[in-house]
Amino acid sequence: MLHIKNYINGELVELASKKYIDNIDPSRGKVYSYIPDSDEKDVELAITAAKVAFPAWSVTPKDVRSKYLLKIAALIERDLNKLALAESIDNGKPLKLAKTVDIPRAAANFHFYGTGILHYAAHTHSMEDTAINYTLRQPVGVAGCISPWNLPLYLFTWKIAPALAAGCTVVAKPSEVTPMTAYLLSELCIEAGLPRGVLNIVHGLGGKVGNAIVAHKEVPLISFTGGTKTGAHIASIAAPMFKKLSLELGGKNPNVIFADCDYDNMLHTTIHSSFQNQGQICLCGSRVFVEKSIYDKFKKDFVEQAKKLMVGAPLDDKTKVGAVVSKPHMEKVLNYVELAKQEGGTVLCGGKQANIGGEFSEGYYIEPTIIEGLSYNRRTNQEEIFGPVVTIMPFDTEEEVLMWANSTVYGLASTVWTQDLTKAHRMAQNIHAGIVWINCWLLRDLRTPFGGVKSSGVGREGGFEAFDFFTEPKNVCIKLK
Ligand code: NAD
Repeated sequence: MLHIKNYINGELVELASKKYIDNIDPSRGKVYSYIPDSDEKDVELAITAAKVAFPAWSVTPKDVRSKYLLKIAALIERDLNKLALAESIDNGKPLKLAKTVDIPRAAANFHFYGTGILHYAAHTHSMEDTAINYTLRQPVGVAGCISPWNLPLYLFTWKIAPALAAGCTVVAKPSEVTPMTAYLLSELCIEAGLPRGVLNIVHGLGGKVGNAIVAHKEVPLISFTGGTKTGAHIASIAAPMFKKLSLELGGKNPNVIFADCDYDNMLHTTIHSSFQNQGQICLCGSRVFVEKSIYDKFKKDFVEQAKKLMVGAPLDDKTKVGAVVSKPHMEKVLNYVELAKQEGGTVLCGGKQANIGGEFSEGYYIEPTIIEGLSYNRRTNQEEIFGPVVTIMPFDTEEEVLMWANSTVYGLASTVWTQDLTKAHRMAQNIHAGIVWINCWLLRDLRTPFGGVKSSGVGREGGFEAFDFFTEPKNVCIKLK
């Protein structure tokens, strides 16, 4: 069975400790490879390599850095099928989704930042004939990048690509639950000839490897995507060390459906925004609020469509809902369904583990689940579940639904369905979230700032904001007389 290796100083390296963790294929519930159980010593090696590489990489001309990134993008595109298969097995997601969304978006990250850096400019401020100020943007140093399991390569590369383009060197840690595509990326970086130490990938547990990266004094910047609790822990370590910090955290996103929406488009998209990737996208709408006059029709149609979604093996092209990522995660999601029942909710469909049989009978499958009858302030409607489970609720007025939408500690994304332009803009202005999608969901323009408010995070990724984050502004003031 394959033993994944760390990528340090340009090479794939064996662990000194020879300790490994099981890597489980969630579609079968079986170990299929091993992940390095790295520790502080491995992190130290990676940080030393990144530190040594930084002076040369930070002054490597932008167009040269750009060429490396574009080469890596091309290699990801070349290996699309291989990477998609690896991601599907590692994560349990439908292969089709990995092929059409995750891996193309990972390549797009390298493309976007590889070309974007060529157009990134700093400011000058003239004080008429007294002085000129210009802002020098310099790469921060060794960037620590830590990512989650739900969109493994896509989110991993969204951090790494802008960091490298901006001139930082990187020590990155993918989730220990889904390490495979990060491992394959390290092979592609070697093939692309990326200079030694510029990117280092250390695999292992969050409490060991992640913690060691965050706490290290030679890592002045942390870009983290993951759970809110982990983010709070990271902030508690990084803040007293005055590190630059970007935290992309959990969500409990509202999907607000007004009676005047384009119904068919709304229904089709709401099925995706509820159940795509088994509901394990931080941007999925998990609270669906529907204007009372269309609630009964919506409920009937939504449940009917959800029941039609095929829960099946990730590699089967007909599968719409694959396996959730792990056994503990499946148990957590199913416990929330039990909680919803205790809170007085009615399960309209799903609510159980699905057994798809054969070689997949030990896999972690959950039926798409719709729950109604819970008020907005119940725990089921306040806490992140992160699985194929949504609640639906009828609302009377715009004021009421706004209050419900804004009632959680989270503020990541939201969706609004209406044909009334004025109402759409009013809702966009009043919803407390980093993203408001109007009559669409998951449309991505990489130039826009991305991130949440409240407990969904601080800082912004995406666009040129990412270059601002990975560089330090220095004002130079020149007196003219
Ligand atoms: P997680 O917080 O458990 O883990 C995320 C990463 O942090 C992993 O690599 C993990 O090993 C590492 N980690 C864990 N403990 C650590 C520590 N003490 N120090 C440093 N690193 C540590 O999250 P997860 O379960 O992998 O991912 C699911 C969560 O991520 C959900 O809450 C989801 O909403 C969130 N998420 C947010 C976004 C966003 O853009 N806001 C995107 C995707 C996922």
